[in-house]
Amino acid sequence: MRPGSKAIVIGCGVSGLSCAVKLQELGIDVEIWTKQRPEYTVSMVAAAIWHPYLVFPKDRVNRWAIRSYEQFSALTGRPDAGVRFVDGEEFIPEPLQPPDWATPEMALRLVGGAAGTLPHYTFRSIVIETPIYLPWLLGRFLEGGGVLVDRAVTHLDEGFDHATVVINCAGLGAAFLTEDERLKPVKGQLVRIASGYVDRFCFDERDPMTPIYMIPRSEDCILGGTAEHGVGDNEVSEQVQRRIIERCVRLNPAIENAPVLGSIAGARPWRDEVRLEPQLINHRGLLIHNYGHGGAGITLSLGCAEEVKAIVATAIDASPSGAIDRG
Ligand SMILES: Cc1cc2nc3c(=O)[nH]c(=O)nc-3n(C[C@H](O)[C@H](O)[C@H](O)COP(=O)(O)OP(=O)(O)OC[C@H]3O[C@@H](n4cnc5c(N)ncnc54)[C@H](O)[C@@H]3O)c2cc1C
Repeated sequence: MRPGSKAIVIGCGVSGLSCAVKLQELGIDVEIWTKQRPEYTVSMVAAAIWHPYLVFPKDRVNRWAIRSYEQFSALTGRPDAGVRFVDGEEFIPEPLQPPDWATPEMALRLVGGAAGTLPHYTFRSIVIETPIYLPWLLGRFLEGGGVLVDRAVTHLDEGFDHATVVINCAGLGAAFLTEDERLKPVKGQLVRIASGYVDRFCFDERDPMTPIYMIPRSEDCILGGTAEHGVGDNEVSEQVQRRIIERCVRLNPAIENAPVLGSIAGARPWRDEVRLEPQLINHRGLLIHNYGHGGAGITLSLGCAEEVKAIVATAIDASPSGAIDRG
């Protein structure tokens, strides 16, 4: 351990958990303070497939997404982490162009619209099953000596009474904590059907207002979706469920007779760009914001956590005492 260095991470969704585990790699004490445990966060609602969707700015997003892809790839070898490769199709508005995030590992292939097929590309993505992955990540954090505290903070400054590093991973809660008016909810509803009817993912983004997708998981298959800007509740609607199923059946009739298991909903923490930046608090310590990941918080989680870790490591290295000083 590095004496004197301690970090408090606010929030226990995928962003907070990923940062907490990465910071432990620096040998510092880490606590997570959270209003809700992982099972009640929007991170648990996520589908969750690796896909840089509804998130900006593109250059940083692509970098975080690709770094996350590399690290999730390594986790596919661990059966207990709930992470596995899945191949599938993405239909996009014409003209057909390769996405700017593709790497050779994703085996992206453009398929033209010949012989009645819609133009699309195929690629290899990764499904991160949050009901398995989040408890696994929390387990890693606790096994590494991390402490989880059920505590809702009213001001980020509270953390500095106990530590010199505070990481703000409060998701939508950051709107209150930082008075950030650029952070807004975007509600999404998903339908769960029985597994075994499709084994490839499929996205149809030809109409950006009504994204359609199917994501096979081990215990179910997720059908989506909706994106209601400015709506922050997690109520599910039967009418929306019916519409989602109808659209997905049109895209792939193979799911027509699959038993419907129900709907889930949550609000994405959407911002015109992800806020990942350090803010030096004089005489108190280092505050780093990491929120606003929109529809891609799982996709970006490990890449963003890596950047947070690098900021903290640089601050420790720059400090003559080897710990983060209070200014
Ligand atoms: C329908 C739907 C489908 C999605 N599908 C995907 C997908 O396929 N792939 C993908 O990458 N992403 C997907 N997402 C997006 C993803 O879920 C989010 O981007 C991600 O979960 C955000 O994680 P987070 O940890 O930043 O926030 P959250 O999961 O919301 O966690 C925030 C944490 O902060 C805590 N907190 C808040 N305020 C306070 C406070 N004052 N004090 C203490 N703690 C506080 C909360 O209790 C919580 O623990 C989807 C989202 C939705 C809604």
